Amino acid sequence: HAPDVNAFLRHHIRTVPDWPAPGVQFRDITPLLQNPQVFHVLIDAFVHRYMSRDMRPDVVAGLDARGFILGAVIAYQLKVGFVPIRKKGKLPFTTVEETYELEYGSATVELHADAVKPGDKVLLVDDLIATGGTMMAGKKLLEKLGAQVMEGAAIVDLPELGGSKRLTDAGLPLFTLVDFA
Ligand code: AMP
Repeated sequence: HAPDVNAFLRHHIRTVPDWPAPGVQFRDITPLLQNPQVFHVLIDAFVHRYMSRDMRPDVVAGLDARGFILGAVIAYQLKVGFVPIRKKGKLPFTTVEETYELEYGSATVELHADAVKPGDKVLLVDDLIATGGTMMAGKKLLEKLGAQVMEGAAIVDLPELGGSKRLTDAGLPLFTLVDFA
């Protein structure tokens, strides 16, 4: 992408210090969604990449909860289906689940067992990559069902937390629009 698109998007991300805990710089992407012109530039940045013949996924999977907003709109534009990866206890049908470690404690995410088919090429979407734990859990869930996660996409990468390196080292290519140190 043209650097000016990345700078434009960066300018519309709000940083909230010490939220939800002291020392965390929360990168709030809601202003990007709130402004119609910015929302368009944001979604088009993803759609442009994934509508080309060799990058078009069969399915978009979105991570709870901001990955739902982005992933659903991207999927709609690509004319492919959308599936949600949810925090445990929300999906009504048979699920597969994956538990991963957080800084304090652990988290479990779930996916409907019929959400993807073996061999499906899946684009995995979230708003931000920090430690990479959430996206790694999503990748594992999709792979349990035999799908191939072609790429992970997010608005923001926090490279100093090592998540994006961990994910690419594990064989997941990544596409992100804005880095914050
Ligand atoms: P991680 O699993 O550590 O890569 O964390 C990524 C998930 O946590 C994403 O779903 C983000 O929405 C959220 N998250 C983690 N750190 C931040 C942050 N500094 N600002 C905004 N969201 C964050």
